[in-house]
Amino acid sequence: MIRTRFAPSPNGLLHLGHAYAAIEAHDLARAKGGEFLLRVEDIDPGRSRAELVGEIEADLAWLGLVHDGPVLHQSARLDAYAAAGEQLKAMGLLYPCQCTRAEVLAAASASGPDGPVYAGTCRDRDVNPEGAAWRIAMDRAVRLAGPLTWEDELAGRQEAMPQRFGDVVLLRKEAPASYHLAATLDDAWQGITLVTRGHDLFQATHVHRLLQALLDLPVPRWHHHALLVEADGRKLAKRRGSPALKDLRDAGVDGAVLAADLRAGRFPAGLSLGLGLGDGT
Ligand code: GLU
Repeated sequence: MIRTRFAPSPNGLLHLGHAYAAIEAHDLARAKGGEFLLRVEDIDPGRSRAELVGEIEADLAWLGLVHDGPVLHQSARLDAYAAAGEQLKAMGLLYPCQCTRAEVLAAASASGPDGPVYAGTCRDRDVNPEGAAWRIAMDRAVRLAGPLTWEDELAGRQEAMPQRFGDVVLLRKEAPASYHLAATLDDAWQGITLVTRGHDLFQATHVHRLLQALLDLPVPRWHHHALLVEADGRKLAKRRGSPALKDLRDAGVDGAVLAADLRAGRFPAGLSLGLGLGDGT
């Protein structure tokens, strides 16, 4: 059975881009009699706002999207992330890093899908693990895993190229896990068979596929959909004036009509589908 998920981070109110993503995940599951799950990606203590979870659920209900089963909160899964971190450490694949952001930027010589690639400064140093971030020794991990592929429903079969990211952080200084580790573990934990998300996260899948191999997790398929973008090609962001779904709800907009419009490709003036270049969440 197909099982998809919508996995918003409660860092701000949802906007039309989130509505589009949720509809994609919902409809792909329902078209095949499958399940649509909701996961709240609230591991970032500095940015997550618990009071937004109720708004997210109200937004989905307003759009007519009913999710199956209980909501999974990443904040309730910290032990699982720590255990996976220990497993990777025991495999000799993680090393502690005390570099500041400025040091990472100053030493970086290459640019990867997520920005500057870490130069490996702490890789072979004796670094105090107390309060450190833990990075994956990417070359070692890739050698151990061997060649990997993954399947995107739209883009076809991909050769996994996680080395483009360099030694990414898997356990963060200020949070128990990085997005890559938490999302990969939770997709497996929730039994997701089709990971649906925006094309802006296409590259991240290379890292997720590697983590699945290292941690012996089931391998789903992926569906990276186009994003709603503004006239300049950038993905929607509330700080650039995209209305929050809550504001539309409060203004009396009919959520079912809005959902039907988004499904039919009838987007508000100035918006279209694109790959979501540039920043903005
Ligand atoms: N939490 C991420 C976001 O809100 C989505 C992660 C995912 O779908 O894998 O952009």
